Amino acid sequence: MSRLKYQALHRRDPILGTDLPPVQHESTFSVLLRLAARNVWNRNGICRVFELGDAAHNFSFYDGDSLLQQRIIEMTGWNWQPAEWELGGRLPHLNDALWSKVLRFCPICLSNGFHSLWFQFSAMQECPMHGCVLTDRCQSCGSLVGAYRFTTKLFTTPFKCPECSGWIAGAPFNHGSGDDLRRHRSSVEFAFAPISTWFAEAASNLQFLNQIACRWTDSDSPFKLLHDRLLTGAMALYHPLPARLRWEFAALVDIVAWRHEVASSLGAVSDMPHRYGYLRYGLPLLVYRATLRTLRSFVGTRPFEAGGANRPMERPGGLTQVSRLSTLQAAYLLMRMVFERGAPLTLGADLRGVVLDDGVFAHALVGNILGRLACRVIMLGAFAMLVDLGGDFCRARLAKIDNPSFQISSVIAFAGVALANAQYCVAILPKIGALPILPAEHNHLNRDVIDVINIALVSRVLKYR
Ligand SMILES: [Zn+2]
Ligand SMILES: [Zn+2]
Repeated sequence: MSRLKYQALHRRDPILGTDLPPVQHESTFSVLLRLAARNVWNRNGICRVFELGDAAHNFSFYDGDSLLQQRIIEMTGWNWQPAEWELGGRLPHLNDALWSKVLRFCPICLSNGFHSLWFQFSAMQECPMHGCVLTDRCQSCGSLVGAYRFTTKLFTTPFKCPECSGWIAGAPFNHGSGDDLRRHRSSVEFAFAPISTWFAEAASNLQFLNQIACRWTDSDSPFKLLHDRLLTGAMALYHPLPARLRWEFAALVDIVAWRHEVASSLGAVSDMPHRYGYLRYGLPLLVYRATLRTLRSFVGTRPFEAGGANRPMERPGGLTQVSRLSTLQAAYLLMRMVFERGAPLTLGADLRGVVLDDGVFAHALVGNILGRLACRVIMLGAFAMLVDLGGDFCRARLAKIDNPSFQISSVIAFAGVALANAQYCVAILPKIGALPILPAEHNHLNRDVIDVINIALVSRVLKYR
């Protein structure tokens, strides 16, 4: 609907608050909340005035191009570029790790009618203007304010808590007063400039992580948590945050990256080689057995935790024996269960009968070529991730012998691109102490290789746009 038509429809009902246009870094949520307060709208009122209809159910405040924003611009006449435009969907698979699902705010800012998109950024722990710790709780009663969405709860009475009817910020919403942030635009811009710059650079620096996270479809909570910890750990290492920001739950990780020359030209994806057993026999099987042997001796030489059995375990009968396994033992056995067909539940040294599952090393293919190092890193990564998930997790999954009940892709943090006659590969491994068989030292945090991967991925994204 055109703006003129809108103005005709609403001529008797001018919108209040158009004199307070959004400031830079202000969230769409904030803009809407302020308009709602000025015009005494609840959620239904907003839907009616902006004629949102059913679309309102799907609104995410992280969306940079929503109907809601279009309507606000149409009806207020603001020359407004929503802060969400900066997000631009360039790292879609990192969203869960980067952004909070619940509303987080600075009490002083909110009482001034201001909320920044960056308050929702997981690593921002305090307001850069006031130094207040960001909170997700009502400052009047302490209850959780809830999901960062266009909910009835947040818009029942704007700025007020539906639980206690008090002010969410702990003080009345007081726009236009002497302290109004809108009068200090430059300090708002200054305060959020570092994170805004960080994010702009992340779009090119962190493409490899986005690619790694792309295969993680498991939304089960232990994996979800592990993945977020790995991603933020890798970000902390590769693309450090500006001062005063920190990832709360980042895992300590290694990022390994390497370049691997191959004889024939890569790139053309023809037949999937696993049709010919290529991914189960020959090189992958050799690498698998060799890595398994090293892992086994690593598991065997580590001190056992209290309660762990300090002896090799052969074909245990059930849960009681599984419960005696140490974390490393359980992770080793669980890894074998995932990689092999009918793996025996044994810590024995005999690896002659190993039969690989079809799919496992498909994850290590880059440009249809399977590299030795890629196979090994995938195994080490899976093992380290299972250790990180913990002994209880591994023992519980082992107890369900026939069905470890997760996707192998959930324990793989690997990405690669094929260019001309080389593969460029990168993987994240959680640190679990002295894992003895990491790839050679020069592979660690190999920025040149990661840059190549980032650039290749960005141009791939652009090509398909
Ligand atoms: Zn503040
Ligand atoms: Zn309350």
